[in-house]
Amino acid sequence: MHTFEITVLGSSGGPLEGSTCSILVKPSNITYEEIIHNKVKDCLAVIDAGSFMGKLCDILNDEIYQNPVSLTQRLLNNYTDTLTLGQFKTNENGVVVKSELGLRSLGMSPMELTFTIQELANTYLITHSHLDHVLALGINSAAYGSSYPKQVYGLPLTIDGLQDHIFNDVLWPDLTSIKDPKFLQLIKLQESTEQYQQINSRYRTIPFILNHGKKTTAEPFLSTSFLIEDIETNQHVLIFGDVESDQDSNETRNLQIWKFIKPLVRTGKLNTIIIECSTPNVLPDEPLFGHLTPNSLFAELLSLNSILLETGEETTRDSQSIGTGDDIESALKGLNILITHVKERKSPIDPKKVILSELNELNRNFGLGVNFVMLLTGQTYLVDDLIFDVQRWNKSDNVTTGSDDNQTFFNGLLSDWRWILGKFNTQDQPFTSDIFDIFRVLFLQGVQFSLEQFGLSVDLLQETWLRNL
Ligand SMILES: [Zn+2]
Ligand SMILES: [Zn+2]
Repeated sequence: MHTFEITVLGSSGGPLEGSTCSILVKPSNITYEEIIHNKVKDCLAVIDAGSFMGKLCDILNDEIYQNPVSLTQRLLNNYTDTLTLGQFKTNENGVVVKSELGLRSLGMSPMELTFTIQELANTYLITHSHLDHVLALGINSAAYGSSYPKQVYGLPLTIDGLQDHIFNDVLWPDLTSIKDPKFLQLIKLQESTEQYQQINSRYRTIPFILNHGKKTTAEPFLSTSFLIEDIETNQHVLIFGDVESDQDSNETRNLQIWKFIKPLVRTGKLNTIIIECSTPNVLPDEPLFGHLTPNSLFAELLSLNSILLETGEETTRDSQSIGTGDDIESALKGLNILITHVKERKSPIDPKKVILSELNELNRNFGLGVNFVMLLTGQTYLVDDLIFDVQRWNKSDNVTTGSDDNQTFFNGLLSDWRWILGKFNTQDQPFTSDIFDIFRVLFLQGVQFSLEQFGLSVDLLQETWLRNL
């Protein structure tokens, strides 16, 4: 299934400036090369702008000059005790990590490419107005130009914050006042958790309000989670801004989101959630400043799991607390949970390593089977729901061979498979064990198929099998 390619321009929660939160989202069925060559607008959506052009230029510099130590590796090297690049992904399945955008052959300089991609990325979604999420919006706006106007969307409180405190002719020129031709538009989304709001020709969104700690005045500070749908493929991705757990806020805002996405997860239209986990687990009385730890993130995932397992009449239920770790039934197996916004600390040990290890331990203890991936600045992630589909198929006991469901599943699988073959050079990219899982499932379900339908030969399959032993 075509889903999304996510390029991380910044995944740090600070306090170092320069690589704080920003994610570039692109549908996976169009390449950067195609977007640039055909000047395709609306495909590139920017979620938060703590970093942008600076980091994009670094990423492209690595790609163009094939730098031996990449931006991602340099940032990891700031800690003496960290993981290797590949270890920040805990599962072979579900997410493909790419370190390049595939633009070397265009013969353009990193700076030309940075400006070009910036011009075509015309839609921004801002989760909240904290500096680590908007810094680049100010600095980069000097490059926007009237030929490539930008639409910056957020909830009213975020947009008011940007207008009053950044684009106010004091901190930065009020570029929103340039109306003809348009230069920069700050656009308020409606506070609705029911209706999708179209933001350009390719995407629509629902902005969910989140709790994100308290202001110094003790009032709650609010942030946003964007459920984003690619209108062409009906695939969704859910991206959280800074957030605290329902347990910490004493509200049920996250619960409402889990309830809303239940049918999307169940039908395979949403396989990836990007969410923060700012610090490793802390002592009970340590302040969190409106963020998540592995324990509180896991409480939220258990809450989502409960909602997904509910049948019939839905009832309001509290988030589950972390218990003794008995295995529970999981409806989240294979769901991609991509972690961002880890705060740097004065330590030789990379907090990303600690957080991932704490999350994986919880994952093992509860048998939730979630696919955790730690997002790294500079990397691109192709999120793929093929395996999630197979697991759903495996669990499904009401699908019988020859039924319409069976046929639909098979057709979907075939199209996924052709897409994968087209995407990767099969000689260089050995099939992972999940490919064999697919064949096993098909075989066990009695589905009739031939290798030719998958563009495969017995020889190639055997060779791949041997390589994977
Ligand atoms: Zn933040
Ligand atoms: Zn924040």
